[in-house]
Amino acid sequence: MRFEEIIGNDGLKRQLTQMVDQNRLGHAILFQENPGSGALAFALALAQYVNCKGHNEGDSCGECSSCYKYNKLIHPDLHFVFPVNGSNLLSETEKKAPISDYFINQWRQLLLDNPYFTEQELYDNIGMENKSGIIGVNEAKRIFEKLSLKSSEGDYKTMIIYLPERMNQEASNKLLKLLEEPPVGTLFLLVSCAAERLLPTIRSRCQLITLMPLSREEQARIRTQSVPEDFVELLDQLLSASVAKRLIDTFSPWETLADYGREKQKEFCIYAESFLRKMYLASNNLKEISDITEIESAVINKYVSVIKPDFYQKVFGYLESALRSIDANVNSKLLFCDLANRFYLSI
Ligand SMILES: [Zn+2]
Repeated sequence: MRFEEIIGNDGLKRQLTQMVDQNRLGHAILFQENPGSGALAFALALAQYVNCKGHNEGDSCGECSSCYKYNKLIHPDLHFVFPVNGSNLLSETEKKAPISDYFINQWRQLLLDNPYFTEQELYDNIGMENKSGIIGVNEAKRIFEKLSLKSSEGDYKTMIIYLPERMNQEASNKLLKLLEEPPVGTLFLLVSCAAERLLPTIRSRCQLITLMPLSREEQARIRTQSVPEDFVELLDQLLSASVAKRLIDTFSPWETLADYGREKQKEFCIYAESFLRKMYLASNNLKEISDITEIESAVINKYVSVIKPDFYQKVFGYLESALRSIDANVNSKLLFCDLANRFYLSI
């Protein structure tokens, strides 16, 4: 990830790259943020920047061999630690001492899709259900092992620790030891939402970087940026079937929605509300203030002239009620079949 891709905290981008350029970067940085301010994105961009073979004008080049691997999160000197726990994705043996490495594929995908994910989204993605994540001593041992290997190609081995406040006592003590005597060429990037819960001795070994909360407008830009493309496609299918009065064509989209996990289902409903709001504004010739993306625009233009004004209010209410039903664990098939039906009838 390049700094350019990050929304908000622009002054911090300059501050960090200057720290690298002027050789003032320490071996451990502690990013602290309110959830959703982009600290993980900053940690990634900084890791990529220090290893980039051709960074210029305050950003990574995005093209060198190191950047190529960073873009896919597969650089051999890029390591991740995050809170985990027993999960239905693990074997019985793995469940006894879960570590981040077991979930690295899910982690990479999540991070590539949207580096602003929440702690709960991480847990949902790695199948932890209602357990809380911890960073335990096995993880700390694994950090030791990884950092004792020679850096394979980069200048720095980077160890990104997401939510270090989830470390237990034993893991904290081990990490402290590493921070006191860091292996040569290692950069620790801690990303915390509750830095006050870390050992004071850990905090004092780190350069502290505080992120400013994002403005409403910046948050909106992130939401639009991270919308899965299939959401727009599903709305297109639902609207198309409803406008053409082909009930049978609503089956495929609602079946897809019913198969999603609960969090993604909620995300869809919230997105559908924002999509309809934009479409409503477009129908009132207020397109310029509605922040419509190119992909959305193509779909909105198809239907905006044939949809009655009362459709928006009705469907909004149905989406709100669907959100409550998801939280109440209502059967997904019934819920989305009903929602699709209401779309169909409201047009
Ligand atoms: Zn590069």
